[in-house]
Amino acid sequence: MAILVHLPSFMAVPITALLREAAPDVTVWNGREAAVAEQVEAIIAWGLKPGVVPAYPNLRLVCAATAGVDKLLAAPDLPAHLPVTRIVDPGQQAGIARFVLAMALRHTRALGLYAEQQRRGEWKRHAGRDAAQCRVGVLGLGEIGSEVARMFVAIGYPVSGWSRAAKHLPGVTDFTGDDGLDAMLAQSDILVCTLPLTPRTEGLLDRRTLSRLPRGAYLINVGRGEHVVEPDLVALIDEGHLAGAALDVFAKEPPAADDPVWNHPRIEATPHIAADPSYPLVARQCLDNLRRARAGRALLNLVDRQAGY
Ligand code: NDP
Repeated sequence: MAILVHLPSFMAVPITALLREAAPDVTVWNGREAAVAEQVEAIIAWGLKPGVVPAYPNLRLVCAATAGVDKLLAAPDLPAHLPVTRIVDPGQQAGIARFVLAMALRHTRALGLYAEQQRRGEWKRHAGRDAAQCRVGVLGLGEIGSEVARMFVAIGYPVSGWSRAAKHLPGVTDFTGDDGLDAMLAQSDILVCTLPLTPRTEGLLDRRTLSRLPRGAYLINVGRGEHVVEPDLVALIDEGHLAGAALDVFAKEPPAADDPVWNHPRIEATPHIAADPSYPLVARQCLDNLRRARAGRALLNLVDRQAGY
């Protein structure tokens, strides 16, 4: 029984050490060089270049080291029968929700504006916006989106959420389907994207959909960069329809040197830091799932390959 840790070294080194400590009976290879291909039964990965999966004939499962699996599922030679699991980490979900909350409060309390004023030596007060008058719409009410919604509800914001199936979360108004999306957008002063990247969600936030937001609305994207058609977003901010955006994820990371997000006065750009998964949990979930796969038991956090998340 062997696990191959196929990750960038900043993750691979600690996760390999955690696996070896937790399971001395399991062989763990960090990187492909030394691995005995026939012995590898699980791969922990983020993305998989063509040729990696077919190199391991006895693979039982692929464990994503992240919540999002878009990069893994993009591997052209990932057999349809091979189970893919992902990370579900309550600590990460809470971390992302707190990050979203920080960006929302920064916007509603005009903290960016006050920082600009401070640098100019300007003492000027602006009317704040009460939480009750600031409607939040959350795209995706999964593990992360439902935690984001819960935190906004807890501090008094009116909250709506859009998902494929209605979720009936306390204090959250459900929207589903295309009509539901349009209806929710029309009443979202803050729109938070926590969707997974799939063929159905790629490019979802373009000029048409973003124009449906009320004038002065603010976008917070912690899903994937590809959800947003960035030139459309920038244009709507420049035209004054949108107040601005906080973007933690980008189609190209880091964005190109001439990408307008670097210098746009109304865009907060962060380098995909909303929250990382816990490495001990990544190791534990992989080990647990490998043992389950060997015993023919149901896997935890199994990805629906058809739906793409
Ligand atoms: P989940 O799979 O738990 O939730 C996904 C949600 O999106 C579900 O509510 C699902 O609806 C909804 N959804 C998916 N497709 C559609 C659609 N076509 N129409 C409407 N709703 C849809 O994922 P997580 O919450 O765990 O993670 C979400 C994403 O967050 C990840 O895929 C990743 O891209 C991103 N992420 C970002 C991080 C960061 O640091 N910025 C860190 C971790 C993750 P339903 O429930 O009905 O199926």
